Amino acid sequence: MDKEAAKRRIEELHQILNQYNYEYHTLDRPSVPDAEYDARMRELISLEEEHPDLKAADSPSQRVGGAVLDAFQKVRHGTPMLSLGNAFNEQDLLDFDRRVRQAVGDDIAYNVELKIDGLAVSLRYENGVFLRGATRGDGTTGEDITENLKTIRSIPLKIKRPLSIEVRGEAFMPKPSFEALNEKRIQIEEEPFANPRNAAAGSLRQLDTKIAAKRNLDIFVYSIAELDEIGVETQSAGLDLLDELGFKTNKERRMCQTIEEVIDLIETLKTKRADFSYEIDGIVIKVDSLAQQEELGFTAKSPRWAVAYKFPAEEVVTKLLDIELSVGRTGVITPTAILEPVKVAGTTVQRASLHNEDLIKEKDIRLFDQVIVKKAGDIIPEVAGVLVDQRTGEEKPFHMPTECPECHSELVRIEGEVALRCINPECPAQIREGLIHFVSRNAMNIDGLGERVITQLFQEQLVSRVSDLYRLTKEELIQLERMGEKSVDNLLRSIEQSKENSLERLLFGLGIRFIGSKAAKTLAMHFENIDQLKQATKEKLLEVDEIGEKMADAVVTYFEKEEILDLLNELKELGVNMTYTGPKPVKAEESDSYFAGKTIVLTGKLEEMARNDAKAAIEALGGKLAGSVSKKTDLVIAGEAAGSKLTKAEELNIEIWDEAKMLEELKK
Ligand code: NAD
Repeated sequence: MDKEAAKRRIEELHQILNQYNYEYHTLDRPSVPDAEYDARMRELISLEEEHPDLKAADSPSQRVGGAVLDAFQKVRHGTPMLSLGNAFNEQDLLDFDRRVRQAVGDDIAYNVELKIDGLAVSLRYENGVFLRGATRGDGTTGEDITENLKTIRSIPLKIKRPLSIEVRGEAFMPKPSFEALNEKRIQIEEEPFANPRNAAAGSLRQLDTKIAAKRNLDIFVYSIAELDEIGVETQSAGLDLLDELGFKTNKERRMCQTIEEVIDLIETLKTKRADFSYEIDGIVIKVDSLAQQEELGFTAKSPRWAVAYKFPAEEVVTKLLDIELSVGRTGVITPTAILEPVKVAGTTVQRASLHNEDLIKEKDIRLFDQVIVKKAGDIIPEVAGVLVDQRTGEEKPFHMPTECPECHSELVRIEGEVALRCINPECPAQIREGLIHFVSRNAMNIDGLGERVITQLFQEQLVSRVSDLYRLTKEELIQLERMGEKSVDNLLRSIEQSKENSLERLLFGLGIRFIGSKAAKTLAMHFENIDQLKQATKEKLLEVDEIGEKMADAVVTYFEKEEILDLLNELKELGVNMTYTGPKPVKAEESDSYFAGKTIVLTGKLEEMARNDAKAAIEALGGKLAGSVSKKTDLVIAGEAAGSKLTKAEELNIEIWDEAKMLEELKK
């Protein structure tokens, strides 16, 4: 890029980043994902490195945080509150380690801490008494939010020694409080907060302390501003002192002797992330020795002795290239976004769900828009929004078709549903999807029969309904693309094996509306064979625990159809098992186990026993397992690193066991 162009782009980036900073730090309402902000910031920094004379003193790359609101008293910090340098990958960490070693030699240790995603605050104590608390503001001056901070119960109003110190910490909103708050906001038609960080910041920068008090905020304190003045020599000893004084510190901290150890630890912490009851957005790595910290010093914006490793972004921005439509097993038409490839949460994404037409309209998603793509946990990526500001005029509104893209019959919208549907029972797409579902892992679990093979079998007209699968011959299969003799043998064997499956797999595989794998199991256990289920009236079905109106109706309607009864007869003749062969449910009154009749939640990681085995063992003793903790829960069994479910159980005063106690009871 020539100098003129670089100058123009730098000016543009100043404007964009200042706007993003204002929205994020001052309004607590970001309009773009963090990854987009980080990408623009990196672009600015690299242009400034290329053209150092274009680096202005007021460049966003040289400044911390945002402006200070006039509504609050201003507080000048005793020691500046800085930002942290970022590391986005292993190489960035290795570079950080190299810079540290070059400056202070090889005798180093790192204190590794969670990067809590909240709001940085500074707390001033005089003679051991809490005097004043402030936001970070622009790093030099913050906003006085003392009264709001006093509503956080983990901030001690008096500490255990009469010290005059300034401590720094991250105020945050625990995940359960955040979820409850947003639920409430949606109910009263207020806009939900984008994330717990914004919710925490918004709550602490309220003029009315009653609001902050209701928000259940918490804090982890992570440093004392002038540690050396009180005779402490390391960051880790500083944290111990904070504990001793009565502050709440985060217990996940570890010491590492090498950067390789740090990298390993980051991998472990990543897997535990979802279990923490608070959000973290990365890991902070700090040189432990204060003497070495002093030697390393600071840049204008951040210390050279620390770095924040940021987790791969779960929300990024990319271009929407096209919208593809697919027809599902039940005829629902699903629009899928085709994207310019982009990395989300560490994997490259080219397709994302757009859910339905209403969502496209509501978010005004247009072809060629810059869209926000989101992926949380292991959920399929989705388009979460549009950057309207970045429209160039080439974007085009999208209209759903009126015809099925596969069979061209007219699409309908069933009352009360958002989705458009193809209701043609002969629609080839629906039949193919139904077959794919039948063989899938939670259904008949036929190894070697994935989407590709099913599509071929269907196209070659070898299979058009599920019973055809059981008539396939070696001669037919061997003709298929990429099918060797060995894979054909294996496939025939797994088709044969699937005939022995217990009834619930068949029930789920048939794709009865509203009957998921759990309901299928409940029905199979209760009715024991398909003939009894076929004859069950709606009333009988409703007597079964966890079977509701919609499910009962769907089952009755399903078994009324002539073609279904024919299909089942055919399957029976082909040798497909139609009885429940799993472990017999134990009635609570027949078991004298402690678990009998109790509603139990398993959370965290079990060390000794596989989770599914533990579940089966508890069920076999008459216990009932539930997925979430509520007032109805009798017992929570918490393994390693249990998170929000454990917190909730504590809040509700529910009995909590560890794994050892569970094993002891199972052995009885
Ligand atoms: P930062 O988030 O990268 O890191 C610094 C902060 O980490 C500290 O101020 C402190 O509050 C916090 N922290 C948490 N745990 C800590 C621990 N154990 N030890 C030390 N510090 C700890 O930097 P920043 O300057 O606060 O914010 C910049 C980041 O904010 C950007 O990287 C971006 O992701 C986000 N941002 C987003 C937008 C947007 O529009 N989406 C705008 C501005 C900033």
